Amino acid sequence: MRRIPLCEPVLRGNEGVYLAECIESGYVSTVGPFVQRFEEAFARRVGARHAVACSSGTAALHVALVVTGAKPGTTVPVSTFTFVASVNAVAYTGATPLLVDSEPVTWNMDSERLHEHVLAWAAAGKPLPPTIEVVHILGVPADMEPLIDLRSRFGIRIVEDAAESLGASFSNGASVGTLGDVGCFSFNGNKVITAGGGGMIVTDDVELAERCRHLTTQAKLPGSSYQHDEIGFNYRLTNLAAAVGLAQLEQLDQFLAAKKSSAERYRSALSGIDAFSLPEPHNGATSSDWLFSMLDCVGNRDQLVDDLSDAGIGARPVWWPAHLQQPHLRSPRIGGECAERLGAQGFSVPSSADVTDDEIEHVIEQLLTARGH
Ligand SMILES: *Cc1c(COP(=O)(O)O)cnc(C)c1O
Repeated sequence: MRRIPLCEPVLRGNEGVYLAECIESGYVSTVGPFVQRFEEAFARRVGARHAVACSSGTAALHVALVVTGAKPGTTVPVSTFTFVASVNAVAYTGATPLLVDSEPVTWNMDSERLHEHVLAWAAAGKPLPPTIEVVHILGVPADMEPLIDLRSRFGIRIVEDAAESLGASFSNGASVGTLGDVGCFSFNGNKVITAGGGGMIVTDDVELAERCRHLTTQAKLPGSSYQHDEIGFNYRLTNLAAAVGLAQLEQLDQFLAAKKSSAERYRSALSGIDAFSLPEPHNGATSSDWLFSMLDCVGNRDQLVDDLSDAGIGARPVWWPAHLQQPHLRSPRIGGECAERLGAQGFSVPSSADVTDDEIEHVIEQLLTARGH
């Protein structure tokens, strides 16, 4: 049996054909038809009016935060249990990240708890955050209701970090990334779809979309002379990357179906076992099943991950929360105990779109054997 990878891209669609078109046409850089084709197809797919392609998910988040008001002197709440890029993007804007603990069901930011804090700040006349960055972690949609309430009461904007969650939807059927003011996706090599590297911003607000497009292209004014009206960024996606991204998007439904089938197999074998605890989407929400993950309730996660690895299984611990990471140790936070438990006990198991049923059964068997079943 091959070593079962944690999560690898599957490149069996039009990737090669589209890349050859780029080479033949000479359009390899940020000008070229695939960038726009990818943006349009992506916007249609998630049900957003506008999409702006970016060089990475991190770049998408940075720009999304800037256009929703993050800047020096402001504080931006963000989940502490996330890949560090979510929090770094806040720091890039000069704003202070406020690291918010998770709730134990979906593992996402405890939006209810943040809601209570914001109401208390408002009552005390304290300055409110211009925007909130909510992460849909590991493919599982976060609870948006309390954040939407804050937006309607106080005009606080919402940025969704949906880097891991393309294909996931809320209980009303809306795609993740489309309930906030701006949604951000990633096409890094291990995400639901890849462009080699890249990201996408989606929004229904034409002004925000235009401002994102402007900032990602060096804030250059239209026309042939080099005139810039603010400090922009070189964050535009290349035509080569967009060609791969478009070919991958065409296969999204297949990828999601394969991941769902693996996740169901894992879930039905492991959900009754006390040694493991699985995150659950809120009622009616659907996960992208990006990386199937669970807690090791026995309290020996690192040994278990090592044992799986020795058995040829690409398992990996989840992230340590941002408030335990060197660059963010001094950031203010709300709680953190739940996120610390997730960081200490959580791990992910093979979830590539092309993993076979036999391989999943092998992983399940190893997990059960390791815990005496
Ligand atoms: C991958 C990821 C990012 C960053 O995306 P890149 O394309 O790698 O820059 C941001 N947030 C989360 C939650 C991620 O998983």
